[in-house]
Amino acid sequence: MAISLFDLFKVGIGPSSSHTVGPMVAANQFAHQLQERNLFASVARLKIDLYGSLGATGKGHGTGTAVLMGLEGELPEFIDPSLVNDRIEKIEKTSQLSLLSQQVVNISVATDLIYHRVDRLDFHANGMVLVAFDGDGKAIHSATFYSVGGGFIVAEDEQGKVVLVEDTTELPYVFHSAETLIKLCREEDKSIAQIIMENEKTWRTEEEIKQGILSIWSVMKSCVQQGIKNEGILPGGLKVKRRASSLHKDLISKTRMDMITPSLGAMDWVNLYALAVNEENAAGGRVVTAPTNGAAGIIPAVLHYYWDFCPRSSEEGVIEFFLTAAAIGFLFKENASISGAEVGCQGEVGSACAMAAAGLAAATGGSPEQIENAAEIGMEHNLGLTCDPIGGLVQVPCIERNAMGSMKAINSASMALRGDGTHYVSLDKVIRTMRDTGRDMNDKYKETSRGGLAVNVIEC
Ligand code: SF4
Repeated sequence: MAISLFDLFKVGIGPSSSHTVGPMVAANQFAHQLQERNLFASVARLKIDLYGSLGATGKGHGTGTAVLMGLEGELPEFIDPSLVNDRIEKIEKTSQLSLLSQQVVNISVATDLIYHRVDRLDFHANGMVLVAFDGDGKAIHSATFYSVGGGFIVAEDEQGKVVLVEDTTELPYVFHSAETLIKLCREEDKSIAQIIMENEKTWRTEEEIKQGILSIWSVMKSCVQQGIKNEGILPGGLKVKRRASSLHKDLISKTRMDMITPSLGAMDWVNLYALAVNEENAAGGRVVTAPTNGAAGIIPAVLHYYWDFCPRSSEEGVIEFFLTAAAIGFLFKENASISGAEVGCQGEVGSACAMAAAGLAAATGGSPEQIENAAEIGMEHNLGLTCDPIGGLVQVPCIERNAMGSMKAINSASMALRGDGTHYVSLDKVIRTMRDTGRDMNDKYKETSRGGLAVNVIEC
């Protein structure tokens, strides 16, 4: 299956790629199916059932909101996050929404949007069923979707089979393991970034790829700036205080040199960048899935570190960072998972950490072997990381976890760059271990909020 860098890094809204971005896209597709079948005029009422992790933590992850907005025709990339609350309030008050902003239909948020906290559908932990009824209460169309992580969705066909619509584009360089990727680099005398660039040129020109990457970088920078600007309490009821703004004020009251030497001052800035992004994510703001929303702060934080603190940082380096991080993300997606609901937080924060470590090692001159080593270290020390968000909100432990993941990524790159690329555990083996650990992990640690911190910390 061919995946592009632009499938992995998508502009969307918080707080979750699998629980917000994917369901919004699925609901939007359902509304278009009704339109294509000329059913708009017959639809009187809609009902949505959310299963598995979507049912267990969907309320805190904004799944209901995402579905309602998707039905009204919104997509994560284009929706204005600042208008969402008012629009949801109106739907709740009137028990009506406007399908693709064209056809008013009934929906009671209290009784037609159902969160099944325990039941799950067989195919995947994140399942949803949407049904449209006519005026006599007869179901006239239904569809089942699965949000499989990172904003990717798959659907069932009318026979109930999951249709995996794979991109069968033939790429110049095919690799399914890190070992093959490194071999390709040696044989072709190319860097990992050059291999990915050649593959991306199947879909876009080099200029479009570079511009596309820089515009993703620009959204990441804006997200950090928004996160630094916004103060107050995060939504959802946990009363978590936003910290990025006050941390920023504290940091800029000192000189940059005071911060860098002789201590670990740069670490404060990396923490700031990660907190800013993940606070924006938790508040439903504009973020880039990297490769998911829950872990959206790590790559921007490490990129900001590269930009602000690494000598000779450049836009070319940023492009190299993204292309290399994408290569590592493809390996995780293909050979394990980037979904917290499938393999726990190791799949989200662990994958992002490995991708960021590889990106930083590449942008600062690492060889393919050192880059593979950096990614391997980044994941090895996140193995077994569970997903246990308190109150089902992407706040605690998620926000701080991104700051920790960012520092681990920088340290992983640093350790790898001090070596010659030879190491004991290969990236392929660590990816396999992550997959197996995720399979063995009890469901209560996979984005259900039925274990870990989610049950041992009392919500107030
Ligand atoms: S604990 Fe990790 S995987 Fe779970 S919601 Fe938070 S960031 Fe995502």
